[in-house]
Amino acid sequence: MPKALDEEGIEKQIADIVTAAARAREAGYDGVEIMGSEGYFLNQFLVTHTNKRTDRWGGSYDNRMRLPIEVVRRVRAAVGHDFIIIYRLSMIDLVPEGSTHEEVVQLAQEIERAGASILNTGIGWHEARIPTIATSVPRAGFAWVTKKLMGKVGIPVITSNRINTPEVGEAVLASGCADMISMARPFLADADFVRKASTGRARTIAPCIACNQACLDHTFSGKLTSCLVNPRACHETELVISAADRVKHVAVVGAGPAGLSTAITAAGRGHRVTLFDRAYEIGGQLNMAKVIPGKEEFRGLVEWFGVMVAESGADLKLGQDVTADDLQGFDEVIIATGVVPRDPGIPGQDGPNVVDYIDVLRGGAPVGRRVAVVGAGGIGFDVAEFLVHEGISPTEDIELWRAEWGVGDPEENRGGLAPHGPQPEPPARAVTLLQRKDETPGKRLGKTTGWIHRAALRMKGVEMLGGVNYERIDADGLHVSFGAARERPSVISADTIVLCAGQLSERTLADALEARGVTCHVIGGADLATELDAKRAIDQGTRLAATL
Ligand code: FAD
Ligand code: NAP
Ligand code: SF4
Repeated sequence: MPKALDEEGIEKQIADIVTAAARAREAGYDGVEIMGSEGYFLNQFLVTHTNKRTDRWGGSYDNRMRLPIEVVRRVRAAVGHDFIIIYRLSMIDLVPEGSTHEEVVQLAQEIERAGASILNTGIGWHEARIPTIATSVPRAGFAWVTKKLMGKVGIPVITSNRINTPEVGEAVLASGCADMISMARPFLADADFVRKASTGRARTIAPCIACNQACLDHTFSGKLTSCLVNPRACHETELVISAADRVKHVAVVGAGPAGLSTAITAAGRGHRVTLFDRAYEIGGQLNMAKVIPGKEEFRGLVEWFGVMVAESGADLKLGQDVTADDLQGFDEVIIATGVVPRDPGIPGQDGPNVVDYIDVLRGGAPVGRRVAVVGAGGIGFDVAEFLVHEGISPTEDIELWRAEWGVGDPEENRGGLAPHGPQPEPPARAVTLLQRKDETPGKRLGKTTGWIHRAALRMKGVEMLGGVNYERIDADGLHVSFGAARERPSVISADTIVLCAGQLSERTLADALEARGVTCHVIGGADLATELDAKRAIDQGTRLAATL
């Protein structure tokens, strides 16, 4: 349990922050950013939700502001005047009893007076039940909040959150929302972001898709931070990609993320690479991810792969269903053929009312108004999201997205919480999402994003059931029972049943090659379908290519 600091404790915290800033200067940095947002220590003193003190650090707003102001004042005194102090100010708390807009402006002006050089924008506490940086948040989705401070202080104001391309940043600046922009995750995705942007090579910037899968999910799991699209991030000294000693002719079969990352890395090292796919487009399953409302960022990732394949000089052969005969004469053969859907073997699944996720996401199969989704893994959740939406995706319409999550105007609503709460569009379909495991569906989704998927579906009235046995399917829908004793037999009335029961490796080609005694490397889903995701596929492809 947290306990209230005494006066001495507060003084020690201030002194520690001052010491850290002075050390940063000593270490050669040009400035520091003082974290006053996201519900951390300084932010907690500002709002009555957490500050219950009755001494000079609590009560009136002047008292509650005292701590951040003292911190900035004393840091400035310690570091001198030729050192940048950025103060990250929570401009919209998104929690009950958050700061009012007047308080935010007053604090900004006091922080400027205390010696800050620049103000940065913090959006939402970690405790907020509104997503603030996840991929389903619209690009630059909170720049309008920063704009409210423009003109009210004399120092530059930075905006932040979901700015992931130079074009998005430029548009934010051009619209007068801020003087500067800040980004963090995009530099994990591509450390050359700024150089590429400034030399007209923006199309080659690896895009941060805001998935959190290899950065924040790792950080909060005690693992080394990295990046889904750039496995070298924070592994630069161990995953070294250097020019090949001997140029080889490399065949890569499958242009999903595993094959794509192999091809561009191997070609970048100087190998002669031929990349095949039976489809007429690159991307593999990413082409299904990108049609899910809230996952539009995957479009940019597939586009980037396309640019990089072209730049790398790899020979791309689409529309070619590769057989073992096609793979003669190569020095190295890489099999990245992905996965096939698992057959759950439910009696009646051959009926006309049953489709699988590929039929729905790629084939445009008609889906009725009442739907049962078999399997509540990442794909089951995504398919449910796809089915409850129609029309424009809220991720592409900030006003729609704000209404969906209940983000109000901080000038009218304390903390920026809309008084009526979330008001999502009515669901396009009635969806029931099922799994056999007797646990909360979605429990195993991303550490920092799983709650968003669960909340989004709950808001759309999706019923989630665990501990289910699938008995049979007929014209009435999906017949189920519960638990080992097959209790409570019932029917989930559904016009359509969508199968999302996991995946198995597509090893037809790998097996055929092995049968002929041809050595090949098998990667991505073709290697292991269990717990496969694009992070693992890209990591494995890049690492293999680094060794060829
Ligand atoms: P695939 O992407 O399956 O690619 C395999 C390729 O091989 C295909 O293009 C196929 O046409 C080709 N191929 C197969 N056989 C042959 C042959 N004989 N000849 C020529 N070509 C062949 N992962 C995440 O990390 N985060 C997400 O948010 C996420 N969301 C997803 C949402 C959905 C709806 C889906 C379906 C998947 C999602 N994934 C996500 C999973 C991710 O897309 C996969 O893990 C990843 O694509 C696997 O990569 P891969 O290269 O091994 O295989
Ligand atoms: P998954 O996450 O392994 O989920 C498979 C689902 O099918 C589970 O709900 C499982 O639950 C069920 N299932 C397994 N065997 C079954 C059977 N024989 N009969 C009926 N149901 C069965 O796989 P996925 O949803 O297909 O996703 C594939 C990969 O893509 C995953 O590894 C996932 O990480 C990745 N992906 C990631 C995201 C993301 O946002 N990060 C999004 C989409 C996909 P029960 O066994 O309890 O029934
Ligand atoms: Fe961005 Fe995902 Fe990489 Fe994190 S892991 S930096 S969110 S692309």
